[in-house]
Amino acid sequence: MQTRRIAIFGATGSIGINTLDVIAQLGGKDAFEITAVTGNSNVAALARLAIEHGAAMAVTADESRYDDLKQALSGTGIEAASGASGLDEAASRENDIVMAAIVGTAGLAPTLKAAATGADIALANKECLVSAGPLFTDAVKRGGGMLIPVDSEHSAIFQVFEENQRRALDRVIITASGGPFRQMSLEEMRHVDAATARAHPNWSMGLKISIDSASMFNKALEMIEAQHLFDLAPGQVEVVVHPQSIIHSMVGYADGSILAQLGAPDMRTAIGYALAYPERRPLSVERLDFAKLARLDFEAPDETRFPALRLARLAMERGGLQGAVLNGAKEVALEAFIEGRCGFLQMAEITEGVMAEMDNLPAATTIDDVYKADSEARRRAAGLLRR
Ligand code: NDP
Repeated sequence: MQTRRIAIFGATGSIGINTLDVIAQLGGKDAFEITAVTGNSNVAALARLAIEHGAAMAVTADESRYDDLKQALSGTGIEAASGASGLDEAASRENDIVMAAIVGTAGLAPTLKAAATGADIALANKECLVSAGPLFTDAVKRGGGMLIPVDSEHSAIFQVFEENQRRALDRVIITASGGPFRQMSLEEMRHVDAATARAHPNWSMGLKISIDSASMFNKALEMIEAQHLFDLAPGQVEVVVHPQSIIHSMVGYADGSILAQLGAPDMRTAIGYALAYPERRPLSVERLDFAKLARLDFEAPDETRFPALRLARLAMERGGLQGAVLNGAKEVALEAFIEGRCGFLQMAEITEGVMAEMDNLPAATTIDDVYKADSEARRRAAGLLRR
């Protein structure tokens, strides 16, 4: 593999740290030149990672932490930067590939910028597709880089999606573990708190995505992501609950064949695939032992207990900026749930209420359209929460 220049957005997060681990496994400095690592509040960790992995630049998105970062990097020769301009600079560097793993809407601007430079985008951030949709996919196309999904489900679909068979494409089937509340009654779900909701049975992830997995809002976002990523009609996106998280997703074709990608639940496989694409490189991750696995289970998702899935379908059918509205409203409800100001099931009620109020926004033509829809959805969600 030739040395590739890479910027890691969100390096201090769960995906970022796994990315650095994969880079080390793929040959470290011989295989990758790290042009930049970015973080937000966790400046000490950011500086440590930058030094450990020989990054040329470290950026904290939080301008008030710039002095701390600069001090932590003094004498290392690593450039320190902060704020939107720092992220913009990291995105504008000559990168062959960018790992887009900033959480939330904050990831949108730097990833769009990186796409415009023609770098390949290894995409973990959800908002780029859910909120910006075609604005983002068009930016990648115009830039000329590849868009390679990192989310395990989309990576799975990407790995078995036969573009030259598109006319014979029937559907994609996204698998869902069902999260920690898969078997809980509606009444019990009314009373769960954030500490219980964050305990995912199979995957180790950041706080927000863990809770989104429990409510299946994460799966809802993945449905919308899949729609944009693979240019699908809403009816072509299905979800099936598969508690073992061994099949990471599937693609069904018109002849009845279904192709699936399987593996141990470990994000490093999807990250490694994105970083080495189009090659497959050895990774030290758990190998599946089918004799030990013995069985794989499947069940239909229950949209009464997990209304997020129904809301995703609604957003896909309505189109325009409904993805941004769903996501913005959900984020406010999620924050409120984490802080104990909103019940678990109320998150979907708030989101649905805001989606109904803002159901006719056309597709974004600029990033500002996305920000406006996002902040209006957040404002309205906060209003509904106060009622
Ligand atoms: P984490 O919360 O673990 O990490 C988020 C990263 O974003 C950190 O580096 C954090 O910096 C940085 N960050 C936080 N706020 C801002 C901001 N305002 N501006 C710039 N940077 C910021 O998240 P994950 O790694 O779990 O997830 C990253 C993205 O990937 C999310 O969009 C998630 O939905 C998606 N994803 C994650 C998966 C997983 O398995 N974890 C699977 C598939 C997708 P700091 O640490 O300094 O706060």
